[in-house]
Amino acid sequence: MPFCPKCGKRIPHHQTFCDEHRPVRLEVKPFDIRVCGCGALFAHNRWMTPKSMEASAAKLIKEHIKQKATVNIVSLPLPEKRGQKTEGEAVATYEGEDYPLTFTVKQQRCDKCARKGTHYYTAKLQLRDPPAGALGFIEEAMQPLAAKGVSINKVEETPRGPDLYVTHKAAARQLADKLVRKYGGTMKTSEQLFSRNKQTSKNVYRLNVVVAFAHFTVGDVLVVDKKVVAVTGVGKRCTGRDLSTSKKIIFSAGDEQKKLEKHKTTVTITHPSVEVIHPKTFQSVVVRNHEPSLPSLKNGQDVHVVVDSKHVFLAEA
Ligand SMILES: [Zn+2]
Ligand SMILES: [Zn+2]
Repeated sequence: MPFCPKCGKRIPHHQTFCDEHRPVRLEVKPFDIRVCGCGALFAHNRWMTPKSMEASAAKLIKEHIKQKATVNIVSLPLPEKRGQKTEGEAVATYEGEDYPLTFTVKQQRCDKCARKGTHYYTAKLQLRDPPAGALGFIEEAMQPLAAKGVSINKVEETPRGPDLYVTHKAAARQLADKLVRKYGGTMKTSEQLFSRNKQTSKNVYRLNVVVAFAHFTVGDVLVVDKKVVAVTGVGKRCTGRDLSTSKKIIFSAGDEQKKLEKHKTTVTITHPSVEVIHPKTFQSVVVRNHEPSLPSLKNGQDVHVVVDSKHVFLAEA
């Protein structure tokens, strides 16, 4: 006959304590925790990304136990595949007694991951005549957004550039804004009726954002309002220098600015005025740049010029 370890009373074989000292059994019903492969945990009816999976799992188990116990996770093997289950182990401590317990860990797809790989979108970001770096720029800009659950679920090529299907409207606007700031261009948005939500009887709109990229970049020479302008900055507002006055010009990018082709030619004389060989007529002509702003030049020096109707302007290569 064994003895009760607390009072020393004799007790039947199947008991560890006498009736008086038998600890209150901790009631733990079967318990599942749901995790996603991305590290998300389902808690309080929503998916969240815990700072510590163990701490959050312990908290969930603690909430699940009716009595006020403390819970420590012993093992939390995360399932590797969706649909797979593993068994985790924990110890609940209640009134000084430890109760080992097990729980099921299920891998499911969180709502963010469920949207990936589908064609779900709320906004279409249309890039028109994008420069070479634009898609790489978007990829970088997407990194902090992806952490917030934003994704581009489909890319559709069109002759003038891709259409990107974005999960979040605000993100599509943000990307468009960044692109315009970086490369110059215009951004137009419109809402399009997509469907009607039967439960709320509200109309569901999708956002269309069109980014028409500037046809020029820093260093190009344009005709802006009949002025010959060297571009010094592109963005929502573009900046340039009027070559004949050297004054700063601010303008917005559009199709109306004609880009002038640069030609390589030679300086013929530098005094009294700078002259170059006209790339089309091969005559020596005076350049029309603001003279005090011209760099020092030598006879016979190779330079680049643009031709606006009849006038020739020196331009940077
Ligand atoms: Zn006892
Ligand atoms: Zn996930």
